[in-house]
Amino acid sequence: LYLDAPLASGDTIPLGKDQAHYLLNVLRLGDGAELLVFNGRDGEFEATLKPAGKKKADLEIGTLTRAQPERPRLVFLFAPLKVGRLDYLVQKATEMGVGRITPVFTDHTQLHKVNPERLAANILEAAEQCGNLAIPELGEAVRLDALLSGWDPGRRIIFCNESQAGNNPAAALGAIAERDLALLVGPEGGFSEREREMLLALPFVTPIPLGPRILRADTAAVAALAVVQMTIGD
Ligand code: SAM
Repeated sequence: LYLDAPLASGDTIPLGKDQAHYLLNVLRLGDGAELLVFNGRDGEFEATLKPAGKKKADLEIGTLTRAQPERPRLVFLFAPLKVGRLDYLVQKATEMGVGRITPVFTDHTQLHKVNPERLAANILEAAEQCGNLAIPELGEAVRLDALLSGWDPGRRIIFCNESQAGNNPAAALGAIAERDLALLVGPEGGFSEREREMLLALPFVTPIPLGPRILRADTAAVAALAVVQMTIGD
């Protein structure tokens, strides 16, 4: 369970209305129920539920079960998709363990604005569901041109380029020496020629193919994250 509060053994934390309702009335947990709680900063703790009536409850924080891990260094850059698929994309990136998630508007992006509260809620839900204590940060949505012009060249961008010949992303990734990386996946309409030329001209961009088929953007993201983590780790 995610708690938006500092956590330390011995603390008693009053739950907000929604979380108390969820534990007492949806999950039907009673006095003494044991939970695991985290806040994305202090690690994971055992906690014991102490109801106070039907609508209120405290959590007594017990022992630390996992220390807070460092946030992965990988930054995930993606063009926002239609809403349901966007939810999926953000959930999967959180499960796969990226450190930062930044929406990037491109020439062919399907959505022209994003709802940061919804994205943040999806990130949190996915982190809770898969026990990822290092909740990814949500970056502010930005246009690709602005992102690239302000980019720190010390952080290499792995660019999923649907127009690239070759089937072997691992071969292209194997040559990368940096460990501070970003992964860029385009929208359903792909990158425009202008964007592709701009990306390929930058010394800090490494294009990769993801096999002979054109993948949907959400599939491409999961496939690329798996390949990056297998090849480079983080
Ligand atoms: N409309 C584009 C086309 O037909 O060429 C396809 C775009 S694809 C659905 C969405 C994004 O997923 C691409 O911009 C790219 O970043 C990534 N992608 C999909 N298939 C890929 C592949 N085989 N190699 C590299 N990237 C791929």
